[in-house]
Formats: sequence, structure tokens, C-alpha cells
Amino acid sequence: MFKSLRLKLTLTNTVVTGLIFLILLSGVYFFMKQSLTRQSENMMRSIALNDRFRYTPFIERASHLDTNYFFVMVDSVGNIVNISTNLTNSYEEIYILVDETMKIDEDFGNIRIEGINFRFLKSYSNFRKDLLKIVYFNTQPEEQMLKNLLTIIISIGIFTVIVTFISSFFTANKALIPIKKSWQRQKDFVADASHELRTPLAVVQTNLELVMSNKEDTIESQLCWLDNIKAENARMTNLVNDLLFIARSDSNEAQIEMSNFPLDIVCKETIMSFRLLCENKNIEIFEDIKPDVNFYGNEARIKQLITILADNAIKYTPPGGYIKISLRQLDTSVQIVVSDTGIGIPQEHQSKIFERFYRVDSSRSSESGGSGLGLSIAKIIVNEHNGHINVTSAPNRGSQFSVTLPLKRKPFRER
Ligand code: ADP
Repeated sequence: MFKSLRLKLTLTNTVVTGLIFLILLSGVYFFMKQSLTRQSENMMRSIALNDRFRYTPFIERASHLDTNYFFVMVDSVGNIVNISTNLTNSYEEIYILVDETMKIDEDFGNIRIEGINFRFLKSYSNFRKDLLKIVYFNTQPEEQMLKNLLTIIISIGIFTVIVTFISSFFTANKALIPIKKSWQRQKDFVADASHELRTPLAVVQTNLELVMSNKEDTIESQLCWLDNIKAENARMTNLVNDLLFIARSDSNEAQIEMSNFPLDIVCKETIMSFRLLCENKNIEIFEDIKPDVNFYGNEARIKQLITILADNAIKYTPPGGYIKISLRQLDTSVQIVVSDTGIGIPQEHQSKIFERFYRVDSSRSSESGGSGLGLSIAKIIVNEHNGHINVTSAPNRGSQFSVTLPLKRKPFRER
């Protein structure tokens, strides 16, 4: 897939660059051609006007002229009565040339004699109205010049196309790196998500088969299988919700709504919702919440963030330990810190735990219902609020997750 994309990108680039060059260079060529023609035409006109033939000596001195320009004067019966001196052609050639020119009705044009192209301009002498002056220009040097220019232009064009093709081939590869990465990430994400869903689905399937193989038994006697199904179902629901959250944030689908809300109250409410769980697990929960902290953000998401961190702290802290949640207000930011005295995270894992589906000990984590998505969701929420999250932890001593969020207040609006 990427090979054909790379080729397409390269070809598009080459064709576009080639076309631009073609337009530019053909512009240069036609401009040059036109200006040369105009230049020779002007010269011919000035030679025609410079009428010094009061008398009619057979040969007029014209050493001042470029040898490509010459003129002849023809009388009313078609005899040549004057020829400029700067001729490089033989008189025979001139007679043929004049003969052929006289056959043409136009006053200005081109004529080809014995393989040589001439431009001509006919005009009547100011002093002798019966004398026709024909100025010629040998266009061969001009043609040669244009031919050389065309060769240069074609060479530059071919060179540019080749260079563009080669450079585009390599730059296309570079341009594809982020696309490849995101494609790979998406593929991994789908693979991981399917893998995560496979286990609860298998558990549901086996438990359902067990229930159905004992059709005569009562629901009560089969409650343990049904409980398993319920638990796995709840786990799948959580997982699907998490996956949906990540997928939506990846696609930047919805702009999250921000408002001012009391962060201290949200912290306290979240802590309250965990008290029973802590009690059941014999874990003490402490709080150090600064009162009256107003924060501008998305209340539901901030609550979800604190819930993820508190839930992890409880999940990875053995009975007898404690967790602490604190809220501080700094000059331009607020800081939420969730610390525990749990199993801790080895140094080498600390930078990876915010990655999707990353778990330090997958068997332990999935035992406690973890899918490895909690902290990646926490990071997304922190990013949405332009904050940052970091962890300090030591194995068997505990962990501390610290979230710093900038205090961005909504401008005060008078009602
Ligand atoms: P999970 O759903 O598996 O907990 P998370 O993304 O929330 O996924 O966490 C990723 C991993 O980080 C966990 O599997 C766990 O190994 C580790 N972890 C997170 N929080 C803590 C904590 N408070 N103490 C120890 N390990 C933690």
C-alpha cells in the first residue's frame, strides 16, 4: 500500500514540477523568439527608412550593416538597380531571391531560397517613388540561436524532471513516515482492542455453555456462572467505553465543553465515592484539598482523570496501605497529586505506562480488571487541558502521580 502511495506521490510531484518548468521554459523560448523577430524587424524598418539613394549608383556602400542584413533596389520593370555592399551571397543567388520575392504580394514575410531562410521587407524609396527597396535579413543565425536555446531548455527540462523524480522519491518516503506511524498505531490499536475483548468474550461463552448444559438447574444454583458473565460484561462495557473515548479523541471529533467549576468539590466528591472501596480493601484514604479552587475546564473529564488515578492507587496498593489525594493552587496552575504506598512501578516502565494497553504486569493488571487504557485516557484529558502529568515511583514503596493544569479562567462576562 505504501509503495504505490510513494510512487503516486513521486509521480505527482514530478509531473507538477515538470509542467511548471515546461510552462516557464516555453515562456522563455517564445519570449526570446518574439524579441529576436521584433529586433530584426525593427532593424529592417530602419534600414528601409534610411534612404540615401538620391542617385542610383549600382552598388551602395553599406559597410555599416551587419552582414545578415542587406538590401536591393528594384525599378518599376523589375531590374535590380542597386545592391548594398555587405553581401555574403553571390549575385546569382540575389537575382533568384529578388525574383522570388517579387512574386510574393505581401510587403513583409519570409522566403526560403536554396535551403536558406530570409525575412524581407518591401518599401518604396522616398526620393524615387518608382524604386522599390527590399531589405533582407538572413534568419539563419537567429534560427541557430533559437535551436541552441531549445536544446538547452530541453536538457534543463530533462535534468529537472530526473532530479525531481529522484528527490521526490526520497522525500515522499520521509513524508510518509508520520502516515506510516499513525497507520501502524491504528493497526496495533485494533489488534490490542480485539485481543482485550477476546478474553471476556471467551469467559462469557464458556460460562453460558455451562449454564445451558445444566438446563434443569435453577438460576440460583447457577448464580456463580451468571455472576461471571455479568462481571465480564461489565468489563467489556468499560473497555468499549474506553476505546470509544480514545477513538473520538484521536479523530478530534468533538470539541470538549469548558466551564468554570469548583475543583475542590469535585475532588472531595470523587474521594467520597472511593471511601467504601478503600474500607473493604483495608486501605486508608487521606485528603489534603485546598478549599475554593475554581477551575476552568471540563468537569466530567477532570472527575474521570481523578477517578482513574485514585482507582489505580487503590488497585495497586495492598491491604494495610494508604493513599492520599491532594489539591494545591499555585500562581498560574493547580496541582492534583495522587500518591499511594502500593507496589510501585519499576523505573524502566515509568515512561511507558501512559502508552495504550501498556501494563507493567499484565496478569496482575487484568486480574484487577485493568486493560492498560486508564493512564492513556488520563494523559488525553490532561493534554486537552494543556497540562502535564508525571510519575515518581519506587517498587514496593509506592507511586505518586502529579497532574499540573494551567488556571485558564473564562473571561468575566457582565450579565
Ligand atoms: P490498567 O487499567 O492496567 O491499570 P493503566 O493505564 O491505568 O492501566 O495503567 C497502566 C499500568 O501502569 C498498569 O497496568 C500498572 O502496571 C501501572 N500502574 C498504574 N498506576 C499504578 C499505581 N498507582 N501503582 C503501581 N502501578 C501502577
